[in-house]
Amino acid sequence: MRLSKRASHLKASPTLKLAARAKELLAQGHDVISLTVGEPDWPTYPAASLAGHEAIDKNITKYTPANGTLSLRKVIAKKVQEDLAIQYEPQDIVVGPGTKFIIFSALQVLCSPGDEVIIQTPYWVSYPTMIELADAVPVVLKTTAQDQFKLQAADFEKSITAKTKAFLFCSPCNPTGLHYTKEELMAFVEVLRRHPQIFVLSDDIYNRLLFTGEKVAPHLLHLAPDLKDRVISFNGGSKAYSMTGWRIGWATGPKDVIQAIGDYQSQSTGAPSSIAQHALEAAIEKCESDIEMTIKLLIARKNTALTSLQEIPNLVVTPPTGAFYLWVDVSYYLGKKFKDQAMEDDRQISQILLEKYFVGTVPGFESGMNGFLRLSFAVDEAKIQIACQRMKTFFKELN
Ligand code: PMP
Ligand code: GLU
Repeated sequence: MRLSKRASHLKASPTLKLAARAKELLAQGHDVISLTVGEPDWPTYPAASLAGHEAIDKNITKYTPANGTLSLRKVIAKKVQEDLAIQYEPQDIVVGPGTKFIIFSALQVLCSPGDEVIIQTPYWVSYPTMIELADAVPVVLKTTAQDQFKLQAADFEKSITAKTKAFLFCSPCNPTGLHYTKEELMAFVEVLRRHPQIFVLSDDIYNRLLFTGEKVAPHLLHLAPDLKDRVISFNGGSKAYSMTGWRIGWATGPKDVIQAIGDYQSQSTGAPSSIAQHALEAAIEKCESDIEMTIKLLIARKNTALTSLQEIPNLVVTPPTGAFYLWVDVSYYLGKKFKDQAMEDDRQISQILLEKYFVGTVPGFESGMNGFLRLSFAVDEAKIQIACQRMKTFFKELN
């Protein structure tokens, strides 16, 4: 065996793979509209970019502490206090090279072989593989359209075993764009109080991108500060601050876990980029009004996308309350034929849309549910409209 047993679980991120294929077709001269990767198309906000330049100009270009600079961790502490009314000291915060890696590290330092981590379908494409790479077992719980694809606390409780180590969830959810309300979270709080051994990994990466008028999505710790010693919350620059390429994120949580994540990073990636840290500090301090503009832009794009999709018969979409994804039920078309090829699962639908109609989407299969497409609407309205027109032509061809 040339590769390790661990590598046998390894699967490339399907979103990144599909986005790369869309770019490849574009480079070949095809007019591709990629609604694949969840990545803002607007630039990093000026104050953050300026701070990045400043870091280079002022030679802020050296290693920092592996868990991030003290000054950034202080700024994050202030931000978390403002947004979630939870108090963290800088030593309860770890900064890392992207939120993805910090979630990965958290699973590494929490899980022992055979531990179970509960997630729901549809899930963010990376969760199961990240859990497996920590030698743990993903326990995947199904949700239904009727429940807006949100896990029910009673189902969660039923799935708890002696091996349950953690519950990992994301609100607003990638891929549905739907967030858990306070009442829904409260039901989880009650279950969690009955099971004090379970950690919660709260992926808050979209919690500032809400269409409901609330500044920030409801958070478990806001509702139940008594869970503070076992909730780890993750956030970062990528979404709200449009800083995907800077690779910068953070986590807050109990000291021992945060310390272990910092130590894990110190032995793996080393310190996060000094330049990205300097830029993120400025983003958090200076870009509130930019986020407000972004939310307005996203609401307009969401409405355009929903209107355009209505023109395609037999698709069902629950309007998202946050993030920038539409979770589109295309199951009506499963089993139908494109030319002579039967659409057995949504991967074929997604593949033909990309290869023949030049519209990139993510098949629901990658989030653990067959019969769906995830469309990112973090692209401009004209492109969304053209993409929906192309999808309409494609679905008409199926019979
Ligand atoms: N969680 C979710 C649900 C995401 O969609 C993303 C986006 N890649 C991340 C975490 C990680 O973001 P990043 O590593 O870019 O900070
Ligand atoms: N979170 C983004 C997405 O779901 C980025 C892709 C990734 O990191 O896999 O599309």
